[in-house]
Amino acid sequence: MATRLEVLTELNLAPLWRRRSAAVAAGTAEVAFVPEAASVVPIAPAFDTSAAALEVRRARIAALEWNAFATDVDACTACGLCRTRNRSVPGVGDIRAEWLFIGEAPGAEEDARGEPFVGQAGRLLDSMLVALGMTRRRNVYIANVLKCRPPGNRTPEPQEADACRPYLERQIALVGPRLLIALGKSAASLLLGTDASIASLRGRVHSYQGRPLVVTYHPAYLLRSLHEKAKAWEDLLLARRTVASLKSVKNP
Ligand code: URA
Repeated sequence: MATRLEVLTELNLAPLWRRRSAAVAAGTAEVAFVPEAASVVPIAPAFDTSAAALEVRRARIAALEWNAFATDVDACTACGLCRTRNRSVPGVGDIRAEWLFIGEAPGAEEDARGEPFVGQAGRLLDSMLVALGMTRRRNVYIANVLKCRPPGNRTPEPQEADACRPYLERQIALVGPRLLIALGKSAASLLLGTDASIASLRGRVHSYQGRPLVVTYHPAYLLRSLHEKAKAWEDLLLARRTVASLKSVKNP
């Protein structure tokens, strides 16, 4: 069944309109859309960005369980990408995975199907997982920094990444992986807060919120730069050694 947001979007009534007084009074209202024009003000996106409202949202997302996670992402209007997405792309995989791969943002195929890494780059990622003895549904979870496609596959804006970050953090907390892998410069930059090149970030273990994080090339880049595949394989072997060493320390 279509959500209220989907219906309003279909009618071109969302997410541009929001009753200011009602939303402020409620102190929340990510989705307080009203069609009648007399008492409304246009804003974009339809989201209260006051510190109090952001904190309410962050706390709500931090308490989400899996059964509500995808629906919540799908109803999100916290940045302008909700207006151009076809489908949100929450994530896919084993919810008890030891490895959590993090890409940049959905592309066209992902936006159409609602699943991350299902295009050509995704097929390469799948092959790399098979080479490691895993699949996208066994011991692996795959997510993106952004859950919605930026138009034309442009690089995510920092504000979009900030708005989406509570979802990624909740995924990480729910899965509880031993290791994170940032796929590509954009994901690495957004997670590690650095503009450094992939070449300078790969080959060592970083930390994101207390979890080990390995940086490697984005599969889409590897499709264009075949000679870098060997380095990506080295990165995955580093990741495998890191997971193994954590296991031997924590769960002998
Ligand atoms: N590129 C990404 O970073 N993520 C996807 O899901 C697909 C392509």
